Amino acid sequence: MGKYVIAGNWKMNKTPAEATALINEIKPLVADAACDVVVGVPFVDLPAALAAVEGTKIGVAAQNCHWEKSGAYTGEISAEMLAAMGVGYVILGHSERRTYFGDTDETVQKRMRAALDAGLTVILCVGEYLTQREQGVTNEVVAMQTKIALGGVSAEEMARVIIAYEPVWAIGTGLTATNEQANEVCAMIRTTIAGLYDQAVADAVTVQYGGSMNAGNAAALLAQSDVDGGLIGGASLKAADFAVIVGAAK
Ligand code: PEP
Repeated sequence: MGKYVIAGNWKMNKTPAEATALINEIKPLVADAACDVVVGVPFVDLPAALAAVEGTKIGVAAQNCHWEKSGAYTGEISAEMLAAMGVGYVILGHSERRTYFGDTDETVQKRMRAALDAGLTVILCVGEYLTQREQGVTNEVVAMQTKIALGGVSAEEMARVIIAYEPVWAIGTGLTATNEQANEVCAMIRTTIAGLYDQAVADAVTVQYGGSMNAGNAAALLAQSDVDGGLIGGASLKAADFAVIVGAAK
């Protein structure tokens, strides 16, 4: 369906020197990648990561951005700032930001607008809590998150939006959605995109799965018809494991 993209989400891990070392380890292992490869690093690691990926096709992502261009927002980083330093991607709406830092569908929508206006490509995270899955409202929750985040996003801008389906219960827990569960929700996201735009936009959008994807389960997940890549947390911090996942994305 969409172009395959494997993105690492390093979360709050690695100093700048460690980031350089890890990217230098990853580089030769993914040189022949058949998919797009992105590393999502902490803000302070961005200069080191951008320097380390120079001359390669590896993209660099920040893990959040503010919706205003500048102003009295102590501790925040704007999309403009990221774009100005050469960052190409930003992860938005990650469940850890929604759960621990008060991100809502509305603030994710505002961040999305700012990121797209700044020229960034967005990796938009959506996904249900375990209680929501158990109550049978996964599709409703994920469709709502998707629709609100994409409010005001044009069909043309959708070329710079990647959607990561990340069931919250599978993130960092070692629990993975089954191949069928992952595919079912990724397909539902694509149907939602078709409803908001048209079938061509839906067919072209990259829909990733994320949630304890690792070197052992990646091939089967990535073989699903509607899974176009992965957002990888823990396993992205190990060069060899990340490379296996990249190699499985064909
Ligand atoms: C994530 O942080 O987006 C993620 C999927 O983490 P993990 O792979 O560790 O579950």
